[in-house]
Amino acid sequence: MSPPSPTLLRMTALPIDETAKGSAASAESAGSAASVQSEPRPWALSPSRAADFMSCPLLYRFRVIDRLPEPPSPVATRGTLVHAVLERLFDVPAAERTLQLAAESLEPQWRQLLDERPELAELFPDDDARSFAQWLESARQLLETYFSLEDPRRIEPAQRELLVEAELDGGSAGIRLRGFVDRVDVAADGRVRIVDYKTGNAPSELFEDKALFQLKFYALVMWRITGSVPALLQLIYLGDGQVLRYRPDEADLRAAERKVRALWDAIERALANQNFPARPSRLCDWCAHRAICPEFGGTPPAYPQPVADAMVTPVDEPDGSDDVG
Ligand code: SF4
Repeated sequence: MSPPSPTLLRMTALPIDETAKGSAASAESAGSAASVQSEPRPWALSPSRAADFMSCPLLYRFRVIDRLPEPPSPVATRGTLVHAVLERLFDVPAAERTLQLAAESLEPQWRQLLDERPELAELFPDDDARSFAQWLESARQLLETYFSLEDPRRIEPAQRELLVEAELDGGSAGIRLRGFVDRVDVAADGRVRIVDYKTGNAPSELFEDKALFQLKFYALVMWRITGSVPALLQLIYLGDGQVLRYRPDEADLRAAERKVRALWDAIERALANQNFPARPSRLCDWCAHRAICPEFGGTPPAYPQPVADAMVTPVDEPDGSDDVG
């Protein structure tokens, strides 16, 4: 799909709920959960939270139902920073989209992030300038890898950080799907490419399906809204410079829909039974809730009551901060 067309068509027709967009964005930090909870909304499922439930139902509960805050991590914050730089890179004229420009925008973008989320300052106390410099250099290296994989001067995305949302029938009150797509490219012939940046390494073949679930989820939402199956799904791994591409067909998206429905049923059962078991895995190494996890000798907080108070749109990350490595 090269070179993509410089059009801004099709995806703008998605029925984005601006109110919901505001809620999802403002729910980025746990501190904003209260304002979201004051306006109960139907459940929505995002790929990130779906992945949480599949990996560890208890982690899903902590994030979606208990809304427990999580301290910022250098790796996740670096993911946020690199995503922001790559998003803004396409604001400037094509000829100016160089590695130098991207690298030079890291610090200003970091300061902007700090303005928006002052708690990130705790990552690098004043006397830790060396760690900050190393961290910033690791972000620059990720950008360098990006430029070795794509030439942004030849790309005009149709959309960046696009909120997509659709509703399926089913469940006790419909199933709302929601997520942020890093980039949507539309070719001159109308073919759509969904692109997602990852700041970690590509998974082994054994785990490719799991990695592709997120993009199939987005493709399903777009297919449901537009009636067209996206031509290409592309995961760009900036950690090791690999690109995972997949050409979905309707059968793939029907399978993804079945998977989402089964997952939704499982979440509704867990809610009904207030039972979200811990499922330990290597993800525990990055889990912010080990201290209250029974697998590590902890005790979870009491289940929130009434549950309806928690039945708001689960927090999703629009910016790559779910990247863990
Ligand atoms: S520590 Fe592991 S088992 Fe416990 S909640 Fe976190 S991911 Fe789940």
